[in-house]
Amino acid sequence: MQTTIAQKAQFRGVGLHSGAAVRLAILPAPAGHGIVFVRTDLDRARIPARWDHVTPSQLCTLLDNGRGATVSTVEHVMAALSGTGINNAVVEVNGPEVPILDGSAAPFVQGILEAGLRQQPGAPLRALRVLREVEVQQGEAFARLSPADHLEIHFDIDFADAAIGRQEKRLDMANGSFVHELMDSRTFCRQADVVQMQQNGLALGGTYLNAVVVDGDKILSPGGLRHRDEAVRHKMLDAVGDLALAGAPLLARYTGHRAGHAMTNRLLRALFAQPDAWEWVTLTPAMENRLPGAGVLASAARLLPRARQLAVA
Ligand SMILES: [Zn+2]
Repeated sequence: MQTTIAQKAQFRGVGLHSGAAVRLAILPAPAGHGIVFVRTDLDRARIPARWDHVTPSQLCTLLDNGRGATVSTVEHVMAALSGTGINNAVVEVNGPEVPILDGSAAPFVQGILEAGLRQQPGAPLRALRVLREVEVQQGEAFARLSPADHLEIHFDIDFADAAIGRQEKRLDMANGSFVHELMDSRTFCRQADVVQMQQNGLALGGTYLNAVVVDGDKILSPGGLRHRDEAVRHKMLDAVGDLALAGAPLLARYTGHRAGHAMTNRLLRALFAQPDAWEWVTLTPAMENRLPGAGVLASAARLLPRARQLAVA
């Protein structure tokens, strides 16, 4: 069954790169609608949240409707929608960048759970089942999709800064594990990169509160880490958001080795370029129970206090 948000959820913050104040709202949408961004400041221009509307960018995921309207840094709100099982929504934003909030997806999940989820009876849910391995590489980095009966994410990173270092994690995304394991992990960056980005007019909205800033073996953000391996968890969160741009739930194992936004988008493009590598399947209730958002509706009352606590931390 397809799912939408029960009522409007509103968010207010700044764009990570622009530093500009921005408002975002998630609204219900009918079955079959999918996720569509709407620029309320640009005559309500519509920008589909789909892989074929992504413009390559190293720092974030940017969507472009091909007619002059763009929206950037969509990955965390997309991860929150996918992780709570929302298939249909309008995401209104009054500027070119999604608010960064605390740098994680927890505030979006909090807002979604407070607004509630609504199942859409009579609307069967389709998923994309990966039938054979598809991989893209760049230097040492690679991203791969392999056949699996539910979404699984396996990620590893290797950073020179000792505060991050080498981290690896594998998660079965069934049964709300996005909410339990990934939603609160924040964007991270190196102090040297922050200085350079700000000299280039980027990360102007970045603070020690909406990103984990590291320098060598030191964590500069007050309060330290939310998880010892917060960095790799955040990369997995980003992967969930970027994979949600497939336009439907994916039944596949994703493996990312030092991968990023641009590489995950290249992977989706490689998948869709090979019609024999995937197929549409209409999900049975048993298959729906293995989706990332399964169980979130039933356990919202228990999950909400945790989301509230994390989102203000
Ligand atoms: Zn991110």
